[in-house]
Amino acid sequence: MAQRRNPVILTIDDEENIRASFRMFLEDYDYQVIEAQNGREGLDMFFLKKPDLVLCDLRMPEVDGLEVIEQITQNSPDTPIIVVSGTGIIGDAIEAIHCGAWNYLLKPIQDMSILLHAINQAMERSRLIVENRAYQEHLEEEVTKRTQALQKAVKDLNQSHLKLKNSEQKYRVIFDNLQDVYLEVRLDGKVTEISPSISHISQYSREDILNTNIENIFPGFKERDQFLAQLRVVNKIFDHELHLEDKDKTLIPCSLNASYQLGTNQADDKICATLRDVTERKQAEAKIEHLAFYDSLTELPNRRLLLDRLEQNISRARRYNHFGAMLFLDLDRFKNINDSLGHPVGDALLQEVAKRLTHDLRSEDTVSRLGGDEFVILLSDLGNDPTNAAAKAQQKAESIKKRLAERNIIDGHELHITPSIGVAMFPSNKDEEETGDDILRYADTAMYRAKDDGRDTIRFFLPSMQAAADSRLAIEKELRYALERDQLTLYFQPQVNGQGQILGAETLARWEHPQKGFISPATFIPIAEATGLILPIGEWVLRTACEHLKAWSDQGLTVHHLAVNVSPRQFRQPHFVSQVENILKETGANPALLGLELTEGMVIDNILDTIEKMESLKKLGIELSIDDFGTGYSSLAYLKKMPLDILKIDQSFVRDIETDSSDAAIVDTIIAMAAHLKLKVIAEGVETKFELDFLEEKGCPLYQGYLFSKPVPNEQFLELLAAGITLS
Ligand code: C2E
Ligand code: CA
Ligand code: CA
Repeated sequence: MAQRRNPVILTIDDEENIRASFRMFLEDYDYQVIEAQNGREGLDMFFLKKPDLVLCDLRMPEVDGLEVIEQITQNSPDTPIIVVSGTGIIGDAIEAIHCGAWNYLLKPIQDMSILLHAINQAMERSRLIVENRAYQEHLEEEVTKRTQALQKAVKDLNQSHLKLKNSEQKYRVIFDNLQDVYLEVRLDGKVTEISPSISHISQYSREDILNTNIENIFPGFKERDQFLAQLRVVNKIFDHELHLEDKDKTLIPCSLNASYQLGTNQADDKICATLRDVTERKQAEAKIEHLAFYDSLTELPNRRLLLDRLEQNISRARRYNHFGAMLFLDLDRFKNINDSLGHPVGDALLQEVAKRLTHDLRSEDTVSRLGGDEFVILLSDLGNDPTNAAAKAQQKAESIKKRLAERNIIDGHELHITPSIGVAMFPSNKDEEETGDDILRYADTAMYRAKDDGRDTIRFFLPSMQAAADSRLAIEKELRYALERDQLTLYFQPQVNGQGQILGAETLARWEHPQKGFISPATFIPIAEATGLILPIGEWVLRTACEHLKAWSDQGLTVHHLAVNVSPRQFRQPHFVSQVENILKETGANPALLGLELTEGMVIDNILDTIEKMESLKKLGIELSIDDFGTGYSSLAYLKKMPLDILKIDQSFVRDIETDSSDAAIVDTIIAMAAHLKLKVIAEGVETKFELDFLEEKGCPLYQGYLFSKPVPNEQFLELLAAGITLS
């Protein structure tokens, strides 16, 4: 801090001795005194040195005292000026005071202490004035500041008030128009606020509920304490599901979002929450769940749900050491119904079947539809004894067959339903842990066996079946490429008369597999049929057979008849007739030499369509035969209607001629019937001289069998044609 200097006094006087006397006196009192001898010099010095007090004479040369006072006062009003004048005229004194002088002393000053007193007094007054002004200024500044702050505060307050008003308005609008329900509940259960929207989701109004206990509408809110405890910890709970009980006691599923609000004391704590009616969401969820686990046509559990229950059943069966069964059911010839009567009838039939299957089911059992016409019945807990359990499963399967066989009229059509049922027991093998998929596959395999064994049949799964099914799958895979890779060829089996003269032949397909060797058509033709591969294969057989026919006649060979096997699926193609016609045209084969072998089953499936096709084929000049005759639904009535040429006696009858008298009688009857219908007849599978003699005696003129020749490749067949067949 700068050293505080002594106060400076400027004396302006033209009298040198007066200035000196003042100086000497004042310096004793620690004043610093500077001097000027006239007004001009005084002003210059004043502005230069800024003295703290001025002693000024009035009458001076150059600039006089009054002017000095005026100028100093103007510039520095706080600097005290004391006039020391010898005029003694009262007017002078008044004028000086007017101009700004602070005091007026008369010269000569007799008592210097009067001067000192006047100076001290003026200095003090000046100090007070300065201080006062500073204080005043500070005050004003402070007041301005405060005023500004206050103005700002008022403005802020206004703004936040406005905001508050806006937001309150906003919330009021939201509150009044809320879809969800807003509510506040005290910890004792009293509802302190609830939005009018409560009337949207219930029959209650806001007034009904306000100030009542929440338990009135949420009677299930029993776990409130637990809910509160949780809410206190996590502060917010989302999507808490609970049921609101309406006036008429219906329960409305709701979702609650709640938060805990602390009050000024615990009694004021409350829960603020929004409540939403989730009925639609629940319905949608239920629908999705239903779609995911149930079949939409029959409302039965689908494969997913079935497998889920099956897994549970298997593990339970294992744990409690008991047995269950899986019945795999496929409707016989359902496809025909669907194709010929239309899908609506097919669907109605499936629904009817579903109804019958569920009819007398135990609650622990499950009926499921896997798709198409495949149903599955899961029987759980059939006891601890495997034989007994299997018997129960058999019984159930029988009763299902019986129920399905009951009269059934859909859309005016009387439909006969028969099922093929495969049964798999579980657990089937105590060492291996089968999955639900395994069991389902076993039952499926058994069902296929039931189909193979003539439909309308029940078969139990045996492990050997699975091996067969597996190899079937492997064959199916490779069969797809057999044609492209030239692995198929045709063999020919001669058809002869009693003299061993070759009149014709049957075409039989052969598959030479590069690794597995020869695969029998008895194996691969049914697979081709099941997968649809029979269509390209059948077309190839027909074309190749016709090419041979053409080649033979070009070589001048006389083969009166070449029979080609036609599979059901192939025959059912709408364009089958035109396909045959095209092949004949393209190969140039003579239609009169071509024969087609049809089976009983396929011709009675859709009898009108069949007869029409057969007639078209006959018009082309082709001969038609019924293969494996006697094994199917041999009915004279339909045989009469059909444009047939040949009956082929099935080899199973021929084989047993010697041992089984009833088979001998059947063969006898077939031959007689053929004669009556004016049909040619041929016996196949003739292996012995005894069989030949019997057939010949009964009047059967044509034979096919190992006794004459096995099926052989083309070159060998031509050799046989040339050399003839002699019976040893
Ligand atoms: P299928 O039409 O009944 O043919 C007769 C089957 O009996 C042939 O078996 C033939 O080799 C066999 N066989 C002939 N004579 C005797 C005999 O004296 N004793 C015995 N034990 N068997 C004899 P293959 O060639 O194995 O054909 C089996 C079945 O495969 C055929 O039965 C036929 O249904 C089907 N198949 C063969 N080739 C074709 C084809 O090109 N198309 C169609 N759709 N099916 C075919
Ligand atoms: Ca045949
Ligand atoms: Ca046959």
